[in-house]
Amino acid sequence: MLARKRMIETIEAETKYTRRMTGRSTLNSCVIDTMRRVPRDEFVPSSVKDFAYNDSPLSIGHGQTISQPFIVALMTDLLQPQADDVILEVGTGSGYQAAILSQLVKQVYSVEVIETLAGEASKALQRLGYHNVEVKVGDGSQGWQEHAPYDGIIVTAAAPFVPPALIDQLKPLARLVIPVGLPYMSQSLLLIEKDEKGEISTRDVLAVAFVPLVSDSENQETQET
Ligand code: SAH
Repeated sequence: MLARKRMIETIEAETKYTRRMTGRSTLNSCVIDTMRRVPRDEFVPSSVKDFAYNDSPLSIGHGQTISQPFIVALMTDLLQPQADDVILEVGTGSGYQAAILSQLVKQVYSVEVIETLAGEASKALQRLGYHNVEVKVGDGSQGWQEHAPYDGIIVTAAAPFVPPALIDQLKPLARLVIPVGLPYMSQSLLLIEKDEKGEISTRDVLAVAFVPLVSDSENQETQET
């Protein structure tokens, strides 16, 4: 598919363009192959399907967006996914990032605070055969204790600070990829690593712009008004 091929070329160009900030001039070929295979058009509303392979975020309703493909690829690469990994995603949204991860690891658990989005994402993932993803409705800043600890955690909404529960739910030598900063302002994509002793190190990878990570109660309010 030509559009998907162009998307990959754009991701590769963006990777080179941002290499001084990210320290990556190429992404892992498994990540690129997965981005080539997963149909992004199946995860967006019909109104924006024509733009599904543009390297840009797209509206998925409820004031939320499916992330820019380059950012999905970069965050996936930073997580260094391994075939045996169990990964937690916070912010299921469309389910696209979860689908990408599901092809690279053993199991993905994903938490979404907006019930309708969680339901739609779950349905799309099942329909397309991504059976190693489980989605639940809830406040992902609390993580998902039942399946913890994780080999990696990816957060796809910007938090004002790193939620402590997510650090707790990382295994030793595991990674957390998370945008941190104020809503709709420039935020920092952080790569946080836990060492064997449980000590944390943080690297600021790139300036990014994500929708905010909200708490459960905030979400109730926005849905009611
Ligand atoms: N990974 C998604 C991107 C979705 S945008 C994709 O591939 O499409 C971020 C998502 O995070 C939104 O759907 C938003 O509702 C959700 N979100 C915001 N705060 C959250 C929270 N506290 N817990 C879980 N999900 C949250």
